[in-house]
Amino acid sequence: MLDERKIQKEIVSSIGEDEFQIRYIRDENAGILISRSDKSYFILDSKEYWYDLIQEKHPSKQKCSCKNDFFKVRFDYLRRKETDDFISVELVSQCTECGKTKTFGRIDIDYSPSSQLFEQAITYCEQPKIKYKTYTIGGFWEKEDLSGLTEFLSQKQLLIYLWYWNEFGKRCFKQVDFVELTMFLSNENSTYLGIYFSFEPLEQIASNSDYDDKGIFIDRNLWRKKELVQIGSPIRVLLDNSIKLCYYIEFCCEFIDSNGKVQVKGESFCCLTKELLRYCKEKLK
Ligand SMILES: [Zn+2]
Repeated sequence: MLDERKIQKEIVSSIGEDEFQIRYIRDENAGILISRSDKSYFILDSKEYWYDLIQEKHPSKQKCSCKNDFFKVRFDYLRRKETDDFISVELVSQCTECGKTKTFGRIDIDYSPSSQLFEQAITYCEQPKIKYKTYTIGGFWEKEDLSGLTEFLSQKQLLIYLWYWNEFGKRCFKQVDFVELTMFLSNENSTYLGIYFSFEPLEQIASNSDYDDKGIFIDRNLWRKKELVQIGSPIRVLLDNSIKLCYYIEFCCEFIDSNGKVQVKGESFCCLTKELLRYCKEKLK
């Protein structure tokens, strides 16, 4: 039965190419198409996330079971009843050799308006691979090492935010001061998901975040674009028959803007990161 809320769009580039290789990150619903003439295009709104996601791992090209890796691509849009908005888009590929079709992605759309995702289904991408310098510093620190680090950061006039599990088993996000943070960390039962030392207020982040019945989700890549230092929740590792905590912090002085250009963050933040690197080198082994 033909669903009248469904619209299909065969993907053709602005210069008329309609066969592509596909690099798609399924968990994050972001990807690019690469044409026969080696031009790359972001799928839907992937441009927003792509560069942050590929810093750790570049997704490999999809291959058909017949070994071919070029496909015709079609997006199936599902319209919200009697509106120009879409609920979801299904990404369908058809092998140019054997004709086999496959749904390689399904994206739910939770914002409005979304008609631009139909009008501009793909966006030209000049450079699909851009790397920028990031820092992840970690190790099997003691609790004192963590409190030393938070004390060092708290002296830098930064706003402190905590993403944590509350006593009712919900994920919460709030601004705290150094005393509250110290009290939280000294409590054996406290569990945090992230601690953020930020140059800028993050209240806006909370209102734009996703929620489920267990509370709020904060984007794990917050530190990439924002001027902040992120302390991740420690990873439990079994070492020599005992559980050790592996702590880590993440930050960077560069980011990639919406035009795909590497930009440097503000001078004061960059100075702070230099001091932080020095601190880590001296105090944290
Ligand atoms: Zn095939």
